[in-house]
Amino acid sequence: MKADIRVCSAWRDRHDRPVYTLGEVCPECGAATENAVPAPFSPEDHYGEYRRALKRRRRQ
Ligand SMILES: [Zn+2]
Repeated sequence: MKADIRVCSAWRDRHDRPVYTLGEVCPECGAATENAVPAPFSPEDHYGEYRRALKRRRRQ
């Protein structure tokens, strides 16, 4: 069985968190959705981790 979860393509601008749906448009803002393929990592998340690691290190 193939999951066909989609996610609002503009959620970073318009929502606090990803808005998942099965439809072609976001039920909350009407923006187009894109396939919510679980990426191994996203550059943004990667740098977020990096920043958090730096902050943690600085605090010690
Ligand atoms: Zn949306």
